[in-house]
Amino acid sequence: DAKSRGRNRLRFFNQSMQVEVTQRTTLTNRLRQGLERKEFFLHFQPQFDERDQVLGAEVLLRWHHPEHGNYPPAEFIPVAETTGLILPLGRWVLEKSCQQLAEWAHDPEKQHWQLAVNISPRQLHDGHFVDEVQDILQQTGAPASQLMLEITESQLLEDIDEAVSQITRLAAMGISFALDDFGTGYSSLQYLKNLPLQQLKIDASFVRDILDDSSDKAIIKTILALGDSLELDVIAEGVETHEQYRTLYHMGCRQFQGYLLGQPGPVEDLPA
Ligand code: C2E
Ligand code: MG
Ligand code: MG
Ligand code: MG
Repeated sequence: DAKSRGRNRLRFFNQSMQVEVTQRTTLTNRLRQGLERKEFFLHFQPQFDERDQVLGAEVLLRWHHPEHGNYPPAEFIPVAETTGLILPLGRWVLEKSCQQLAEWAHDPEKQHWQLAVNISPRQLHDGHFVDEVQDILQQTGAPASQLMLEITESQLLEDIDEAVSQITRLAAMGISFALDDFGTGYSSLQYLKNLPLQQLKIDASFVRDILDDSSDKAIIKTILALGDSLELDVIAEGVETHEQYRTLYHMGCRQFQGYLLGQPGPVEDLPA
């Protein structure tokens, strides 16, 4: 009858919730251990201008667990965020990225490259973030002008006043900001105006269907126009085909990132 069916469903629900909690705990322990055992490393995905010149790269965190293998960031970053482990992890990413920038600073071919580092909301709202970034720049000797931080719209909305104040202080140090996954969150043109941003990143989901979906194309057109009038660079992410590239170019896009141009990989793989 309906009642026992309901009970069964309830039991099933509880079991699957239990499994989820156990998996989360396992992942949390593995993350903590992974930090100690230095199982994390960085990949770099090149970014290009319209003349195919390298502008720099986005830094993407990678985790190789000795038994489990490679965890995708989409799986472990949300857990790192809820547990707060993103704070030491994010600090490590920034340190490594700044060490890389300091190395490039002596190389005439690479000293103009920027590194774009993804920042989680937890980091931005931590209260120590500005000091931490300042310390890392000082310790590594990385030029602040070559560091770009990628934030998302949802991140700003958590506490917009706090976010604006942190970002303004960091921008005053010479750091650039990109708004990642742009168009997927709740944008307010008001904060776009008030934030010292350098770049908007067109989310890959719009680029994916640009050829067949007229609303995606219209959204991209709007983002490009917005960038134009607010004097922001606009970069397209997730460019996978020549057709997508050509369409974006004809629409006025001048910065590109995606598998067509370069996969994320070890730093040695960045094109000279
Ligand atoms: P994101 O910042 O939007 O990064 C772009 C994602 O798109 C990366 O996935 C990249 O590998 C992937 N990608 C690049 N080109 C293409 C393409 O042509 N086609 C497709 N389909 N995908 C492409 P990844 O490395 O799996 O990272 C996923 C997300 O995890 C990132 O999205 C970012 O939000 C987060 N993430 C990665 N590294 C870090 C980090 O160090 N700190 C924080 N807080 N988040 C990170
Ligand atoms: Mg990003
Ligand atoms: Mg993105
Ligand atoms: Mg993303």
